[in-house]
Amino acid sequence: MNKNCSNCGQSFEPEPGYYFGAMFISYGINTALFIAAWVALSVIYPDYSLKLLLALLGLTVLIFLPFIYRVSRSIWISIFVRYKDEDLPSSA
Ligand SMILES: [Zn+2]
Repeated sequence: MNKNCSNCGQSFEPEPGYYFGAMFISYGINTALFIAAWVALSVIYPDYSLKLLLALLGLTVLIFLPFIYRVSRSIWISIFVRYKDEDLPSSA
């Protein structure tokens, strides 16, 4: 992760332990993912065993871990840092 934004210089680590709260966002995303995986397994394979469910959840966590880690940190910093339009790269 970069120390500062290359566009506006915003610090991505404003204080030590800043992303502690991102853990709770990650928890929420993982819970939604678990429920989705569980519902999908119940629909696709109704006679599933607990071992299969736990294996599927473990695999789901491993696959989505890097993605959820970054997204939850992005969501966390966007709650506290406001971006002005001129800071964003122009799309036109
Ligand atoms: Zn920026």
